[in-house]
Amino acid sequence: MTELTHLTIKSAIESLEKKEFSSAELVQAHIDATEKARHLNAFITETPEIALEQAKASDARRAKGEAGPLDGIPLAIKDMYCTKGVRTTAASNILHNFVPPYESTVTDKLFNAGAVMIGKSNTDEFAMGTTTESSAFGNTINPWKRKGDNTDLIPGGSSGGSAAAVAARMAMGGTGTDTGGSIRQPAAMCGIAGIRPTYGRCSRWGIIAYASSFDQAGVLARTVEDCALLLQNMSGFDPKDSTSADIPVPDFPAATRTGDVKGLKVGVPKEFRVEGMPEIIEKNWQKGAQWLKDQGAEVVDISLPHTKYALPAYYILVPSEASSNLARFDGVRYGLREHDDPETLLDMYERTRASGFGDETKRRIMLGTFTLSAGYYDAYYVKAQRVRRLIQQDFLKAFEKVDVILTPPTPSAAYPIGENDDDPIAMYLNDVFTVPLNLAGLPGMSVPSILTPEGLPLGLQVIGKPWDEATVLKTARAIERAAGFNAMPSSVQTGAA
Ligand code: GLN
Repeated sequence: MTELTHLTIKSAIESLEKKEFSSAELVQAHIDATEKARHLNAFITETPEIALEQAKASDARRAKGEAGPLDGIPLAIKDMYCTKGVRTTAASNILHNFVPPYESTVTDKLFNAGAVMIGKSNTDEFAMGTTTESSAFGNTINPWKRKGDNTDLIPGGSSGGSAAAVAARMAMGGTGTDTGGSIRQPAAMCGIAGIRPTYGRCSRWGIIAYASSFDQAGVLARTVEDCALLLQNMSGFDPKDSTSADIPVPDFPAATRTGDVKGLKVGVPKEFRVEGMPEIIEKNWQKGAQWLKDQGAEVVDISLPHTKYALPAYYILVPSEASSNLARFDGVRYGLREHDDPETLLDMYERTRASGFGDETKRRIMLGTFTLSAGYYDAYYVKAQRVRRLIQQDFLKAFEKVDVILTPPTPSAAYPIGENDDDPIAMYLNDVFTVPLNLAGLPGMSVPSILTPEGLPLGLQVIGKPWDEATVLKTARAIERAAGFNAMPSSVQTGAA
């Protein structure tokens, strides 16, 4: 039944509705695919029993005419989302045994809409990373390979588990979190679509915090319309998250139906043309602009003058918030506790945190503790906050002239695992195109566009005005239509994923 794993969410829902197959069959096909592709390490915890139970319940609801908008659809849930009674680790050893007694608002909404959970997907530890290599449960492998080369590549990160699962047809869609690019970047590197909505569109309640003023839930799926469908069912105000916005959620799937961009003003920011950018990235970008022009959009050069300060500001502010958020992991309340009979309380804290956190997490806690410390606070943290405001103003000014902004999401295609192991700065530089919009709280989407000559997928990034995900989705749909990207990882084509 492998063909069931190749359907879009939209078409699977239509077939379920017509009783062409049951959710139990659809879900079983994805469980089988998951078992076959275990070497990719896309999941930290597989949940086949829960999935089959949810599928059965879904079939029963459908039989009674009570199916929800996502009923019976198997999803990968990033292991940053707390799931009631199901281990939730944030890919950290410090939470290796944490079973939340509650459900995150977003997963609760998805399950209420009928969605099925295939498993908890892998991520960089506490979503800190760009490659899914910092997971305490081992790295995820990208299902894509370079042509004629069997080297294992990174899937991007931090939502690399969800991206790999969706690209390798183990799940029809997945949740991600995007603090600085963790949805758009792995989507681009795995040849699928992914959207991070405006900060405040989805509730962060029950999502393990990384950097609270940046974190936002979002989705990954194989088509723009599927992304819209998932986002529709996880958005909205939540009284449990004071930063979620009490404003109406527009009809996102409707925005993708026409993908009409006639008269749309698309900005191309010159500052994103960074030094040393590979030619293929530039070519892809120009192609994207042309695709939109061909469909009646107007492409306009714009300037976002403070772009070059985005990365340094991000890597001051985000570790600062992380160092504060991660102070709660101390071995007292939940998760790992080293040394059950410590000499002092401090001794227990130190041992627990020393063995519970991985290197990248420790690096960021130290960075953030430094930038928040007396004497350095004004020089780093406060200054970075000012830069954040300037970047936000750049975007708002640009949006007086244009409706959306088009850029590449990544400075390269997927690269070999281990390539940046000894060089965290090189790793941080990969975020150059994704972090600016997070500083400004804006929505952004990556949509697959072309294959590189090596046979690896690239994407295009669409950035929108605050709360205007609908135009982002519409523009992405227009790109998707023009690109006609239907390539698949070769392992999926041959059924050997
Ligand atoms: N790569 C960025 C970081 O390491 C973004 C991660 C994210 O969006 N969670 O912080």
